[in-house]
Amino acid sequence: MISPVLPTYARAPLSFDSFEKGQGPWLETSNGDRYLDMGAGIGVCALGHAHPTLIAALETQGRRLWHTSNLYEIPKQAELAAKIVDNTFADTVFMTNSGTEAIECAVKMVRKHFSHSGMPERVEIITFQGAFHGRSSAGIAASASPKMVDGFGPLLPGFVQVPFADLDAVRAAINDKTAAVMVEHIQGEGGIRVFPCADMRILREICDEKGLLLVIDEIQSGMGRTGKLFSHEWAGITPDIMTIAKGIGGGFPLGACVATENAASGMVAGTHGSTYGGNPLACAVGCAVMTEILSAGFLENVSRLAGHLRQGLESIATTHPKVFDGVRGEGLMLALQCKVPNMDVVHAGYDAKVLMVPAADNVVRLLPPLNMETFEIDDALWRIEEAASALDARL
Ligand SMILES: *Cc1c(COP(=O)(O)O)cnc(C)c1O
Repeated sequence: MISPVLPTYARAPLSFDSFEKGQGPWLETSNGDRYLDMGAGIGVCALGHAHPTLIAALETQGRRLWHTSNLYEIPKQAELAAKIVDNTFADTVFMTNSGTEAIECAVKMVRKHFSHSGMPERVEIITFQGAFHGRSSAGIAASASPKMVDGFGPLLPGFVQVPFADLDAVRAAINDKTAAVMVEHIQGEGGIRVFPCADMRILREICDEKGLLLVIDEIQSGMGRTGKLFSHEWAGITPDIMTIAKGIGGGFPLGACVATENAASGMVAGTHGSTYGGNPLACAVGCAVMTEILSAGFLENVSRLAGHLRQGLESIATTHPKVFDGVRGEGLMLALQCKVPNMDVVHAGYDAKVLMVPAADNVVRLLPPLNMETFEIDDALWRIEEAASALDARL
């Protein structure tokens, strides 16, 4: 018999009912056990669990006003949009409730840009194998991974996939119908695969040369995760359109599609919308998250913690060469490349009471809260070492 919850997820086989509460990087179970959460709800809880500033923002707004719809001005939405515009390449922001919806807006914006500019034939978007852009019809067509699209056809046309970070393949895929290239600077679900900064710069040049829009999906890599507000800043380039979600709400559902004035040129009144998108509750929390991440020294501290975590992981990988192949990623978006099945590592982590997240290419991801203390990172490293030793002993 089907469960009341649609069984689209294989849930973690944990020995207790569920997590009951969280504090900082810790999750506590119904029977009082504490787990160190190095996955942070898939990179969402950027400031950990139960952050006092976020609780205060939610409570204050919660007592005042939850929702009015986008029929009316929403001051908190305007405040959050201004914060994003002030701190990025973007001139304008559309708020959503999720990453997928931000992607959806980006895809529509690309097409509208060209139809509005008298080039309606330009509809194709080039994406990369291993990409993850969400689970909507456009999102799965963009990724085209068999696991995501099987049985859901006919797919939304207009997406072309090329091998990851293969610039010759990008050039070869461009034709009269090409509108944009969409890329994750660091593929998250795809296994923490980093698109080299030098190649990101060439990709920007190719787009400029051919009159294409560059869309960067920073849903996982953004909001401070790599030690910059957005990871493309490391490459010294800017996109035309960027998608944001995950960390921006710190656990409250929130996303955004942000763009230059030029890229957004076709998106006039009536062309797009969302009932909930950018409602007062979500934006109050989003503003609080932005303020924390932009506070003095925050991003520098992310880089410092990242160096510490990475060094520790490298040493664990070296100590257990039969379990791990190495470490990759940037900032606090890291992966242990596994030689044993990655789910074995995740399960050994459960036994050591540390939570890690599997991804494609047989890796386990570490996407911890960005504001952990050094001793908490050390604690996580001990637990991962314990998990690795347990696996080693079985080999
Ligand atoms: C998580 C993710 C998405 C989808 O976001 P949802 O909030 O799950 O809809 C899209 N792109 C990337 C890079 C992501 O990591």
